[in-house]
Amino acid sequence: MQTDPHPGQTGQEAATATGLSKVYGEGETRVVALDQVTVSFRQAEFTAIMGPSGSGKSTLMHCMAGLDTVSGGSARIGEVELTKLKDKKLTQLRRDRVGFIFQAFNLLPTLNALENITLPMDIAGRKPDQEWLDKVISTVGLADRLKHRPNQLSGGQQQRVAVARALASKPHIIFGDEPTGNLDSRSGAEVLNFLRNSVRELGQTVVMVTHDPVAASYADRVIFLADGRVVDEMRDPNADRVLERMKNLDNRVR
Ligand code: ADP
Repeated sequence: MQTDPHPGQTGQEAATATGLSKVYGEGETRVVALDQVTVSFRQAEFTAIMGPSGSGKSTLMHCMAGLDTVSGGSARIGEVELTKLKDKKLTQLRRDRVGFIFQAFNLLPTLNALENITLPMDIAGRKPDQEWLDKVISTVGLADRLKHRPNQLSGGQQQRVAVARALASKPHIIFGDEPTGNLDSRSGAEVLNFLRNSVRELGQTVVMVTHDPVAASYADRVIFLADGRVVDEMRDPNADRVLERMKNLDNRVR
């Protein structure tokens, strides 16, 4: 695990797409969702992916996380080329090296917070690294809530449990699909702060799809998609600049 406190200065890439294309359907229903996208996500960096609805954000994330097949080009997690992997190896890679956070928290209601956090590792028969787990739990700020079940936790706390679950196995990279989409702004801020801390303090790599400029402002870098292409990127974003850029993109495609 990379723990460089200066994200982006190592030059190490956690995931890379090269000339990545994804086409759905054929003939009249043919849609080019991704059009030769080339982009890298550096270790210990927090990246937001933004763009108008239908611009290819989810498709890019799914292809890079090995959740969907690609039509052309390549997608790598670390040194592993996903497009060359057979199903079983791909499932293994997703389980061992990739963490996911979705809009729905997907916690098991009968398990307490700690049991939810360690569940994927329990299923995989892997023993958690206790030192790491303690660090994750103290970063998540839920040490006094570990025995609580999901229905005894607020939305923001539940999503922090889901993020801790994604972090517990020390994945190479975490992908989030609108992770704060179901949260009010205060709970959303809790989760985004935790994600940012996991990058700063634990050296985690996080890539998050969002349509919310405020959420994107927590990232180190924003990638903008339009019509299946990367059209811009912004370092050290703030919400106003992101909003302004998004307005221009919306005008461009509508
Ligand atoms: P975003 O996440 O930016 O809203 P998506 O990646 O979901 O965009 O979609 C990109 C394009 O691909 C859209 O035109 C969408 O309609 C199309 N698309 C996505 N998934 C499918 C699918 N399973 N079958 C057909 N078209 C799809």
